[in-house]
Amino acid sequence: MSQSELQTTCAYCGVGCGVTLPHANDRRIRVSGDTQHPANHGRLCVKGTHLGDILPLKHRLLFPEINNERVDWSLATRTIAERIQQTVAQHGPDSFAFYLSGQLLTEDYYAANKLAKGFIGTANVDTNSRLCMSSAVAAHIRAFGEDAPPSSYEDLELADLVVLVGSNLAWAHPILFQRIQRARAADPNKKLVVIDPRKTATAKEADLHLAINPGADGELFCALLTWLVDHQAVNTRYLDSHVNGFDETVQAARNSLPSDLSGQAQQLGLDSADLTRFFEWFAQTPKTTTVWSMGINQSETGVDNSNAIINAHLATGRIGQSGATAFSITGQPNAMGGREVGGLANQLAAHRMFDAESINAVQQFWQAPNIATRPGLKAVDLFDACLTGKIKVLWIIATNPVASLPDSHKIIKALQQVDTVIVSDVVSDNDTLRYADIKLPGQAWGEKDGTVTNSERCISRQRGFLMAPGQARADWTAIAQVGKALGYTDAFDWHHAHEMFREHAQLSALNTPTPLTFNLSAVAELSFREYQDWQPQQWPLNGSRNSRRLFTNGRFATKSGKANMIPVAPTALALTNNGHRFILNTGRLRDQWHTMTRTGLAKALTRHSHQFEVHIHPTDAAQAGLQNGELCRISSDLGEFFAFARLETAQQPGQLFAPMHWNDSFASKGGVAKVIASVTDPISGQPASKHSQVKLTPMATAYQGFCFIRHDQLNPVWLSETIHFKSMSNEGTLYQFFTDHHPDELAAQSDCGENLHYGQQQKVWATRSDQGLRFWLTIGTNATQWPDLDFLDFAATTNALTLENSTLIAARTDDMSNLGNLVCTCFQVTDRQIEQIILDNPDTTLQSLQQALKCSTNCGSCLSEVKDVLSGFQASINCVDAAVRG
Ligand code: SF4
Repeated sequence: MSQSELQTTCAYCGVGCGVTLPHANDRRIRVSGDTQHPANHGRLCVKGTHLGDILPLKHRLLFPEINNERVDWSLATRTIAERIQQTVAQHGPDSFAFYLSGQLLTEDYYAANKLAKGFIGTANVDTNSRLCMSSAVAAHIRAFGEDAPPSSYEDLELADLVVLVGSNLAWAHPILFQRIQRARAADPNKKLVVIDPRKTATAKEADLHLAINPGADGELFCALLTWLVDHQAVNTRYLDSHVNGFDETVQAARNSLPSDLSGQAQQLGLDSADLTRFFEWFAQTPKTTTVWSMGINQSETGVDNSNAIINAHLATGRIGQSGATAFSITGQPNAMGGREVGGLANQLAAHRMFDAESINAVQQFWQAPNIATRPGLKAVDLFDACLTGKIKVLWIIATNPVASLPDSHKIIKALQQVDTVIVSDVVSDNDTLRYADIKLPGQAWGEKDGTVTNSERCISRQRGFLMAPGQARADWTAIAQVGKALGYTDAFDWHHAHEMFREHAQLSALNTPTPLTFNLSAVAELSFREYQDWQPQQWPLNGSRNSRRLFTNGRFATKSGKANMIPVAPTALALTNNGHRFILNTGRLRDQWHTMTRTGLAKALTRHSHQFEVHIHPTDAAQAGLQNGELCRISSDLGEFFAFARLETAQQPGQLFAPMHWNDSFASKGGVAKVIASVTDPISGQPASKHSQVKLTPMATAYQGFCFIRHDQLNPVWLSETIHFKSMSNEGTLYQFFTDHHPDELAAQSDCGENLHYGQQQKVWATRSDQGLRFWLTIGTNATQWPDLDFLDFAATTNALTLENSTLIAARTDDMSNLGNLVCTCFQVTDRQIEQIILDNPDTTLQSLQQALKCSTNCGSCLSEVKDVLSGFQASINCVDAAVRG
């Protein structure tokens, strides 16, 4: 890295990759992976590679607004403070709540937590991290006495067996998956087991894929525990010295399962031989690391599932050892930092809970006049309290709960019941901002400054390098200003994020005389310069302990110093219910992030999966009367959404999969949150978002089409009456829509100029101004080919094209369809291009393909898909050859 480069951290997932970029206030920069960063050693996945694409100032919220009128910050701050004062005076402190985000920096989290829990007097501070890993947090506390993930990323490379449970790591945490894959390539004896109902990109790379019944993961690990006991494969010395609860836990596991392995395999939906193989590998491999994420946590038994995994590792003495550990991976970039400061409603601060000694210690440290003395409401309960009118003032920061919490209809009703909804965000519109009374413009990635902690407890700096636009402010500044307006001038008199980080570190020093491992006391007096120059470091940072792994010596953060095995009996859900024949599983796509407010604006990232698709087994699709690519309706008792059928043999019959990214901002009927019930784990409060019971029906309309509308144009009214899906381009928005209205009727209601083309099946209209194309509409009975967004952008910015030439768009559409599906985003390589290379040379290898097309040679996120296309197409050629030979 040169002097002119700046180091920061990726905005997206919990891997927390280091990023370098030119030291310049320039929104057109390209980023690189930071070779010095221990998480990624210079590599970035496709989302990280395209971080520069989300910097342009489109769709930004630039000024504070009250009731959609622009105001200045002082009025907005005063109004918020007055509303908080009024509600606390009339209804008590618990009538106020913060709903925060794992996208926030630790300093933002610290400010919000201090204001609510120390000064307003409520612990109603919860976060969207509740939806991500709060079950793992609760399991850590039960087992280790503290929410302290014991592992380091290098354990994934050092392990001889990696077990991935409920994790499509290849797409959701690509850099970690690549680290595992490189280690396997260097040592072919290393094994990978993937436990997932779907044959994901990750599962395709496994030595053993256990396509388990949805929700049965906890049972599988209970079965593993009993098998280990029965085969004398537990570590009795470790158990005797370092673990409580072994006998009760084994008994509970036995009670919850059929006694024989074949009965267990049948219950889990697995083959007995595969199950035995997994158990044997686990027993025989001392260096085993089990990794889990949302597939385990987003369940009504998420905490028990997590403890079932930890139980198996405690029974074999494999916690916090080199290459031998149980590792929960977080989804968001700073879920861990939020957990450190107390950003969950059931934590106070600095890993302290609501015991009398902790309340007293934190109150003293903050000199807090109104310290909260009991846990607050967890996310789903918090919005239920909004619905019943208990929460009067709600401040949402950097998150989009209407799109991300289950049962979005209920969340909308809840927001409508709240007297004052304050939303701090960087974008000017999303599903939640539509219900805001007060909007506050926040700083985006590249503008804000502070720290984040990744899944391996590594604290890194996110550094600002851009001027914030308009009146956008750091979220901590907005919170501190309200704290001061409430009269707490000294407590919130911060001028830079560094001061909050130092205070946070000083607070953590309260843990020094306790067994708690979270401790930053070594940096409690960090200077401004040292903060600016901070290099990634794993906590604990207290000058004495080894920070790489926790609990290595078998001493845990419990009173006894021993870990707890927890008796659990998690049960898989029933597979059918009241006519809702399908189990809907939800998850992430390779090139998208959360509710797409950023990645949905990056054209390069939308090409990989530009349509909202629901994955269906071909047999189920045939029974439902659906063909690949056809529109379908997915519904539950709570609501419905529409998506395109994608026939996948990787999908198990009876199960559907839909990505969680789409919402009302990108589809007329929103996404998966519309149909998911707000069922939660009773301990963690984490919603069960992985298996909802739904119906699937085809959705036919008389006409379908595409409409491109330049950003400076208004939408025609009829569009809101269609079923539609939105894609953003640089210059406008492309809608794919479905309607029963006749094309001429729609054209008549649009300012869309003359009819340029009238074919048997499709009509095209277009209008232009001096700057170029401003509106383009094509509609017919079979208008399904995806238009070329680049060409539309070009047409929207040039007056060199005649209007008639704009009909080329339609022709261009057909050209595009011949290019195939995008596989490699970095080098824009499609499956058809790969197939052509194989057709030219059937002996094509991965290496020769990479040489020819460069696919998968940059970020590597598409490697498993490239291999899939290569092997799949070679297999089909061989099949044809064999048939020809007779
Ligand atoms: Fe960002 Fe990708 Fe690294 Fe996650 S894996 S932090 S999205 S570059």
